[in-house]
Amino acid sequence: RRADLAAGRTLPAVTRDGHAVTLLANVATPGEAAAAVAGGAAGAGLVRTELPFLAATDWPDEAAHAAALRPVLAPLAGRVATVRALDFAPDKLPPFLIGRSVTPPPDALAAQFRAIVAAGAGTELRVMLPMVASAAQLRAARPLLAAPVPLGAMVELAAAVEDIDALAAAADFLSIGTNDLTAALLGLDRQDPRLTPARAADPVVLRAIAAVVRAGDRHGRPVSVCGDAAADASVIPLLLGVGCTTLSVTPSALDAVRALVRSLDLAECRARAAVLLA
Ligand code: PEP
Ligand code: MG
Repeated sequence: RRADLAAGRTLPAVTRDGHAVTLLANVATPGEAAAAVAGGAAGAGLVRTELPFLAATDWPDEAAHAAALRPVLAPLAGRVATVRALDFAPDKLPPFLIGRSVTPPPDALAAQFRAIVAAGAGTELRVMLPMVASAAQLRAARPLLAAPVPLGAMVELAAAVEDIDALAAAADFLSIGTNDLTAALLGLDRQDPRLTPARAADPVVLRAIAAVVRAGDRHGRPVSVCGDAAADASVIPLLLGVGCTTLSVTPSALDAVRALVRSLDLAECRARAAVLLA
């Protein structure tokens, strides 16, 4: 069955009733980037950059960022590479940040932006900020990005959903982080075992996702979903049903997600989502 799924890699991710879905991958290592391309992803919807720096003793400098990022972006040459700025958090925290803000100061962010722009030269580069709480936060980061590269926001905080119109106006694209967003909206800790990808099907979360998609549409901004719910068979029909058209998933899930999308009917997905949201 795995072989059958892999054989589908050359087939388009399109629903039975003819609606195309863009499949991207979430990657953090050169191996994952290569697996994304081998698995038929159009590119990376999320390049996580904090993982090489979990033992860092200070904010990484430009050279350290570039050295870590270059081999990850090499397999993505010619494809979309959506590189996320450092996203340290309680579950991924270098010792030097214990008791301090995990948000990079402007000079540290600017250094990472320069490294991203240099390392991503061969890709269809996009840059995004994690844990964006306001449009002002995104606007403040933009001048630090010297090159004309699209700058997007992850939508994974309740505050971002609350002010989604302003955020959509300020961002070049939006990416919904269902892992943190589901935790935030359901009041669960990120480490809570009850926090499974399937919980994104909760009407509270689905309604938020629908609102983000509508705001993206109103402002002409692409919206993707990059949390683990984007690879969850019980949630994918609902994501498509509220208008999501780009899913970014772990590379090992690409085959199964493509096969599922090809088995779905968008009209049925819309009806299922409408029932849940009613
Ligand atoms: C998310 O929060 O859904 C996400 C994709 O980012 P991370 O899992 O790295 O927090
Ligand atoms: Mg997150």
